[in-house]
Amino acid sequence: MRSEVSIDPTEHADLHWYANGQSAVSGSLLELYRRLDALFVRSACEWGAREYSVPTFVPARELAKIDYFHSFPQLVTFPVALDANPDNLRRYGAAAALDESGAVPLFESAPIRDVLTPAACYHFYILFQGATLDGPRFLTTRATCYRRESHYRPLERQWSFSMREIVCIGTEEEVASFLKTSRERLSGFFQRVGLPVDWQDATDPFFDPSRNPRYVFQKVEPVKREMAYQGRLAIGSTNCHKDTFGQAFAIRRDGREAFSGCVAFGVERWIYAFLDHFGMNESDWPDLDAEGIE
Ligand code: AMP
Ligand code: ZN
Repeated sequence: MRSEVSIDPTEHADLHWYANGQSAVSGSLLELYRRLDALFVRSACEWGAREYSVPTFVPARELAKIDYFHSFPQLVTFPVALDANPDNLRRYGAAAALDESGAVPLFESAPIRDVLTPAACYHFYILFQGATLDGPRFLTTRATCYRRESHYRPLERQWSFSMREIVCIGTEEEVASFLKTSRERLSGFFQRVGLPVDWQDATDPFFDPSRNPRYVFQKVEPVKREMAYQGRLAIGSTNCHKDTFGQAFAIRRDGREAFSGCVAFGVERWIYAFLDHFGMNESDWPDLDAEGIE
């Protein structure tokens, strides 16, 4: 249990913070990271999910199909390369590596056609593009995700972080049942280990919410529920996308566009919640190997 002395999880000796909004973990925190992810994977296995290892980039033309760039311009991070034109490379090679502000002078950059993965599950709608499914598909992956934020804080809010997702693509009923059962299983888990998490209705962080029909829709019909640690930090979410991805990527199930839903876990935020609630010492943490989200 949490000690009387107020602790700051971000002060843990096994956490290494980078000024650019990223962290590294070692020792006990790396062990915790692995155990948490193994817990999520076991939960995915309960659904018979197929596990994927996905790449870092998502093609921009694919994300454009769901209007990602108009909805979340503030979050996007692009991979940039120099224009391969030899003159450009020569000029670049001859110039100072960094300008006075510490930024890299790029001269001409090559056209940007990719995005650094903003959420793990996008890969699946792209991979299943054009498919007609003869049953529900359960899928899981862990991706390093990238989101520009107005400020960063170790574990709680990072530019790059780890997201484990369990995804269901199927009929409306299949997806609804997957999300409902997942929430019930998670609630049981939170109760058993004694982590104070409750479910809160939420919306995605749209750039210009009032002018975005998807935001208005999310307000009217809560499709996003967050696992709110101490009511203040979302350590995960369940999301019902209806047939948005089925339509955008022509995925069909049972004679119409497929529905989809995902359960997303922010691994660094789970580490934060464990440290904050159970304390800095690994001997005080719940034994995750003996636990399951089932
Ligand atoms: P979302 O797709 O926004 O529901 O994100 C899924 C989960 O990823 C959230 O519930 C958080 O746990 C985690 N997450 C989102 N953004 C960040 C961030 N900038 N830093 C760390 N974790 C994040
Ligand atoms: Zn997702």
